[in-house]
Amino acid sequence: MDLKKLAEVLIPDNDLLPLDEYEKAYPARELEKGAEVTRLAPSPTGFIHLGNLYSALADERIAHTTGGIFYLRIEDTDLKRKVDGAVESVIRSLKYFGLNFDEGAEIDSPLNKYGPYYQRQRASIYRAYVKDLIVRGLAYPCFCTEDELNAVREEQTERKEITGYYGKYAKCRNLSEEEIYANIKAGKPFVIRLKSQGNTENKFTFRDAIKGDITVTENDQDVVILKSDGIPTYHFAHAIDDHFMHTTLVIRGEEWLSSLPIHLELFKVLGFQLPKYGHTCSLMKVDNGVKRKLSKRKDPELSLDYYRSAGYYPKAVVKYLMTILNSNFEEWERKNPQADYRDFKFSIGKMGKSGALFDIDKLNDISKAELANLSAEETYDFLNGWVNEFGSDTDRQHFADKEYIIKILNLICGIGGKKRRKDIVRAEMGVRLMDYFFDDTFKPAYEYRYDKDTVNAVLDGFAAVYDENDDNSAWFAKVKGVAAANGFAAEMSEYKANPESFKGSVADVAEILRIAVAGSPNSPDLCTVMGILGKARTLARLNAGKI
Ligand code: GLU
Repeated sequence: MDLKKLAEVLIPDNDLLPLDEYEKAYPARELEKGAEVTRLAPSPTGFIHLGNLYSALADERIAHTTGGIFYLRIEDTDLKRKVDGAVESVIRSLKYFGLNFDEGAEIDSPLNKYGPYYQRQRASIYRAYVKDLIVRGLAYPCFCTEDELNAVREEQTERKEITGYYGKYAKCRNLSEEEIYANIKAGKPFVIRLKSQGNTENKFTFRDAIKGDITVTENDQDVVILKSDGIPTYHFAHAIDDHFMHTTLVIRGEEWLSSLPIHLELFKVLGFQLPKYGHTCSLMKVDNGVKRKLSKRKDPELSLDYYRSAGYYPKAVVKYLMTILNSNFEEWERKNPQADYRDFKFSIGKMGKSGALFDIDKLNDISKAELANLSAEETYDFLNGWVNEFGSDTDRQHFADKEYIIKILNLICGIGGKKRRKDIVRAEMGVRLMDYFFDDTFKPAYEYRYDKDTVNAVLDGFAAVYDENDDNSAWFAKVKGVAAANGFAAEMSEYKANPESFKGSVADVAEILRIAVAGSPNSPDLCTVMGILGKARTLARLNAGKI
């Protein structure tokens, strides 16, 4: 058969270059020895998940600790899955978690010399190489219909054989020249398949950068490399792109492990040097005592948007992922509590080989610890970012007064003091803790333990003497004065010695004031709360708190 002629008929494009021109167009990268080139290669589906971030973090750390490149390629060969704005959303999401690409789709960078970074825009490169494989007798057209393929699959399943297009089932592999041209003439749609040279009886050891030595069986499937719309499949595009973009290390989910034999064969027939591969383990969770993969349908926490909208501190999520990515990260952290996680020596060899357990409680603990480490200004920036995107209009109005919020934060978080608050997990919790400092979100529960006359007399009594210029001890002396004037013990020792002679102690008086001013019997230092609220608001609350 005249394969050159066949290739011309199947791929008549006149814009294809001789193959060595493509090689020249994508010269080797000028990087130091040992520098790794990694990439994130998502489909533009708009759904970016924790698994993506997990892989991307490994990619980014490895590239940036070896002086290499981390780039973004968009795998848009399947148009059905394309969602508008998805690429921007990937970039924004990763940026939120502190991960930045050096080059790639929609990245403004002088390094963008290996594009286009959208696969759909690379059709001619793929087609040139498919054409060459046809000429070399390593690829052929297949005219089988969906129905025919389904029937074969059913037959194979019934016979308990491996499903797919291989061996005797690869019907179009042996079509004669006449049959091929007759099909083309009849206008039958076709795909191009690899004419596999492999044999499943051959097994060999392959070194996966994460999983270590694994046994791989040769591929014998005549996989589709070019679909009927002229666009390549993932397999083929992967080989071409990672070759021309000079990826040195492909980190991807372990669901791709079963396709590895196909990729090994493709790199071989294309004459390309193989990159290293690292297959990451799936993220698992324990659900009702059973360990299972995180699922898009069942687990909102799989989506990265969840962490943003739920107000997790992004660095906490990244640090948490670091603990599951590298088993020695936690120990390093303990020894270097103030160090940036980027100073940790990330090692692909320390990545887990099988199912990483996702533990939201641990993430929450890390989040608490991270938030308890922030300055008031940093806390404000973080909360304000969340409020602007996910908070209510009222929250946004409150946060417009930065100075006021910073004062509140200093107090309620104990920033700079001896008792740092360490229980804030997410932004929303922090924001809600401030509600009582604003009249429109102040929801007091006036649940006093004293009768009306006592409560009102205490509130009026304190309102009459309150002076916003008092320091803590002058303020407290006044509370004691109000206590004594209303039948309470001004000193705790007095009260303890003789409890039945008093209505209660100074602490009970402070509680009445606290309920009126802060809305509940629990609040941080009341003198400071009043100071932040200001005199007018404090007096108004003392008055409104009367029953
Ligand atoms: N587009 C593939 C995916 O989203 C990429 C796999 C790879 O990294 O090679 O799963």
